[in-house]
Amino acid sequence: MKKSFVAVPTGHPFPLYNLPYGVFDHQGKRSIGVAIGDYVLNLTLIEEKGLLQIPALVGKKVFNQQSLNTFLRCGKACWHAVRQFLIHLLEENTPDLRDNMALRSEVLIPQNQVLMQMPVQVGGYTDFYSSIEHATNIGKLFRDPTNPLLPNWRHIPVGYDGRASAIVVSGTKIKRPKGQLKIGEEAPICAPTRKFDTEIELGFIMGTGNDLGSPISINDAHDHVFGAVMLLDWSARDIQQWEYVPLGPFLGKNFGTTISPWVVTLEALQPFSVQGPVQDPQPLPYLQKQNINFDIDLHLEIKTPKMDAYQEIAHTNYKYMYWDIAQQVAHHTVNGCNLESGDILGTGTISGPTPDSYGSLIELTWNGANPIHLNSGEERTYLNDNDSMRVIAWTKKDNLCIGFGNAEATVLAAK
Ligand code: MN
Repeated sequence: MKKSFVAVPTGHPFPLYNLPYGVFDHQGKRSIGVAIGDYVLNLTLIEEKGLLQIPALVGKKVFNQQSLNTFLRCGKACWHAVRQFLIHLLEENTPDLRDNMALRSEVLIPQNQVLMQMPVQVGGYTDFYSSIEHATNIGKLFRDPTNPLLPNWRHIPVGYDGRASAIVVSGTKIKRPKGQLKIGEEAPICAPTRKFDTEIELGFIMGTGNDLGSPISINDAHDHVFGAVMLLDWSARDIQQWEYVPLGPFLGKNFGTTISPWVVTLEALQPFSVQGPVQDPQPLPYLQKQNINFDIDLHLEIKTPKMDAYQEIAHTNYKYMYWDIAQQVAHHTVNGCNLESGDILGTGTISGPTPDSYGSLIELTWNGANPIHLNSGEERTYLNDNDSMRVIAWTKKDNLCIGFGNAEATVLAAK
């Protein structure tokens, strides 16, 4: 396996075979880059200097942009060519950049000197509900413990249209939302949520879209997906519970969604693909394909103002998901709906089969019935003001390990 001349410690999330894309500010300028170890390679500069030797990109400015969207529209063959070029450029036996110290110090910037920004301009955001364990738990808590899954769930990758403008990059504080709460038999009130929760998810980023009226077939779906980020779907459970019938989530969800800044490409994730769960009943033909998940570990952590370090409260894995990204894309477009470059498709909360693998506080505390005991001696059911949540994700196989970095945010008091 090839290594980079940039030092990457074992177990580091960003080795040569990851090269996740991000958008960053450095010395007052916004640029696009890939992460390699603790550095970011400035692709905006590489392109500007004419060093990006990709025939399809000659004379084009795909990286001198405010977001990855222009590059995403170039398509799968182009993403592959750039990846091959960058692996070669950064590989330890390639002297071009390795031995040009002036160029190196210009284009390889320590990550602690840059400020990460939103990687894409998000035009559309859809959040699915594709973990059978999560849907079962929520069905038990919100509706009927004896019959938690609705009749459509095993036939349809259920989802809802979320709010693209409320998606923010890791580190942005999330304000406790106000909304209508219905407590017991009392009349509803308008007040800050008392059940501030988050859901661990992945967000798949659409690379190329489809024309309105022209569905993406399940066999082509992977070609349209550029990569994935971690996603925290902030949720006000009390607002959600009162508002969600009959049209689904609205103000209980659209006050903020956090994503990690580095987009891990689908090509980098390919070696870690695994077969998804057996689907019974068999889905309709437009959703039929051997379902492919990825073996991605996700760790959910909390830190209160009294704590010095984050404490893990759950760990789960993307491989448990019932509906995969190809099925979600095929379903989303079967009616002709047009997905666009930069759109984000949330997987839905990633919950596993055991209580320590649930991906949200409502499940972990069983809607507040079982508080979480923290190392600080504190208890939590839902989030207090100034609490922080973080998710960390990585995937491993044999000697190869690649990670997503982390996504975190702190709860800001209402008003
Ligand atoms: Mn969600």
